Amino acid sequence: MFKKILIANRGEIACRVAATAKRMAIRTVAVYSDADADAKHVHACDEAVAIGGSAPKDSYLRWERIIDAAKATGAEAIHPGYGFLSENEAFAAACAEAGLVFIGPPASAIQAMGLKAESKQLMEKAGVPLVPGYHGANQDPELLKREADRIGYPVLIKASAGGGGKGMRAVERPEDFAAALASCQREARNSFGDEAVLVEKYVTRPRHIEIQVFGDTQGNCVYLFERDCSVQRRHQKVLEEAPAPGMTEALRKRMGEAAVAAARAVKYVGAGTVEFIVEQRHGEMNFFFMEMNTRLQVEHPVTEAITGLDLVEWQLRVAAGEPLPLQQSELRIHGHAIEARICAENPDNNFLPATGTLHVYRKPAATAFQRGTVRIDDGVREGDAISPWYDSMIAKLIVHGATREEALARLDEALAATHIVGLATNVQFLRHVVRSRSFAQADLDTALIPREAAVLFQQQPVGLELAAAAAVAKTLLDERVLAGPDPFSRRDGWRSHGVATRRLEFEFGGEHVKAELVTLHDGALRLALNGRVEPLSFRADGDTIELRLGDRQVRAVVYTLGESDHVFTAAGAAQILSIDLLAHAGDDASEGGRLTAPMPGKVVSFSVKPGDAVKKGQALAVMEAMKMEHTIAAPADGTVQELLFAPGDQVAEGAELLRLAA
Ligand code: ADP
Ligand code: ADP
Ligand code: MG
Repeated sequence: MFKKILIANRGEIACRVAATAKRMAIRTVAVYSDADADAKHVHACDEAVAIGGSAPKDSYLRWERIIDAAKATGAEAIHPGYGFLSENEAFAAACAEAGLVFIGPPASAIQAMGLKAESKQLMEKAGVPLVPGYHGANQDPELLKREADRIGYPVLIKASAGGGGKGMRAVERPEDFAAALASCQREARNSFGDEAVLVEKYVTRPRHIEIQVFGDTQGNCVYLFERDCSVQRRHQKVLEEAPAPGMTEALRKRMGEAAVAAARAVKYVGAGTVEFIVEQRHGEMNFFFMEMNTRLQVEHPVTEAITGLDLVEWQLRVAAGEPLPLQQSELRIHGHAIEARICAENPDNNFLPATGTLHVYRKPAATAFQRGTVRIDDGVREGDAISPWYDSMIAKLIVHGATREEALARLDEALAATHIVGLATNVQFLRHVVRSRSFAQADLDTALIPREAAVLFQQQPVGLELAAAAAVAKTLLDERVLAGPDPFSRRDGWRSHGVATRRLEFEFGGEHVKAELVTLHDGALRLALNGRVEPLSFRADGDTIELRLGDRQVRAVVYTLGESDHVFTAAGAAQILSIDLLAHAGDDASEGGRLTAPMPGKVVSFSVKPGDAVKKGQALAVMEAMKMEHTIAAPADGTVQELLFAPGDQVAEGAELLRLAA
């Protein structure tokens, strides 16, 4: 076995690999960018080497530097994690040339699976079922259109070099094909430097079911069962689970064997995932090859949870030349596991990624490293920032239970115990998904999120009254700490005897609310809000406040950040601004007619030019940041005066992109 490895990645996956290496007494070398100088993964490793600037192209993608770092530190092998260099065949080949072991498949296998069109040609030969479609080399638009007509609408145009859910266009009607093709090619050229596309049947209400495979250098290859990753937004995974609900033994065997055939066709070694799209028709499940990801996948922990295996350990053993630890007949599924990706993003604003500091980052108690009931994989600590340089994933929450119901209940509980303050996250959204009818009943397909939209978005799980009561309680508790047991003598607006009234103002859910807190002679409290006067009482129990308002009782944890109180209850979280306690209320300056970048990123395109008249809500520009594209829309009707950047330009957060006149 290796004595020392270098981990050519960052964040949770670098920490994840380091944890297994440590358990196996293998020393680890981290690499880091300027932005990551003090990152968790740097501390998780035994040594660390700085490799350059914050942008991935200046650090995590600079493979000469990474190879130099491995040589300088005496590492024998390089683990690429996922993303970055993990599917770069030139890097895999360069490692071999430098005498380093690349912990992954041979460069030839990465290359064979690198382009979706070419890999489909290979899979066709290997007898793996494909979605009906065209994946040839001829890219003549007329020919592509004829192929689409032959396949039958709806069709999906996909960038052959695509990944991360980008470069895909669904086309409903023949007359829309040409425009969709042009826009798909543009995105493919900009994002992947290659505009080749394929056209395939758009499967309606499909499921995404993928098979984890593993090969070794002795020619063995097994499948470690499936993961259902159907719950997606923007073609990116949100929740993943194993086993797939409704999977039969017979289908599992057929899909597993097809995945192994796919891997064998490219002489695969190491961990890989064969992704299938599954059509659900008349109670039957028909599966078709989509692509193979030649690396460890983000969602590998659910497979670890149900098999009791450590996939990183298998990767290391295989890379060191050992045979697979187990044969197919020795592999078993135990219970059910679900992973939720916790991301810095705003689900109510089309999942716009968010950046900022994790002022509060409290996690549910983890119960074991793997195969436990709750596992948290992350690469950040409280106080760390989610920067614009990398993707928006904060943590992965993985739960395991004897049954799906048990795992589901545990996931909801674990999400409720995940308290993040300082930036927008999808935690609350994930809870809504987990509790939605479709997810609870395992009625899974890739349209689950749009189908359940009514219960997923713009939800306020904690009402104004309880949020206000929690904020009041937190304030009074804090004042008591500051002022001793008798806060009454310290604050303006209070009287120390008789009935005292304190006027309060809140901002909640975009509304301004007035309230009054009345203290009776005996010290009992009444909260008057929206014409209702209710008795309020509370007591602190560690971090938790036990609160009673009228006949409602709730346990809440409240964090104060600046002017806002962040209230977490079993039902969900809420944010409330208490205005009376401030010297002055913060007022966001509105942007008027200026159009600014919501985050640092790259300008992809402008859909308007100077002189164009635009309507409110009309798309003006597309930006790309944190692996996603964002449309910048007109805030009001107006005329475009000037474009201040060109496509391809890097822009800072808040940079003005174009000028609009009323
Ligand atoms: P998966 O099928 O495993 O979800 P994705 O295509 O979503 O694969 O990407 C895997 C991971 O690779 C992402 O979650 C992200 O962490 C990482 N990644 C991909 N591209 C980048 C990038 N440009 N910068 C940073 N991380 C990236
Ligand atoms: P990427 O490389 O971006 O992961 P994939 O080919 O794996 O691209 O597709 C990503 C997602 O797009 C799938 O998980 C699925 O939700 C959807 N998708 C892909 N192909 C089809 C199809 N033929 N019909 C319907 N949905 C599809
Ligand atoms: Mg995919």
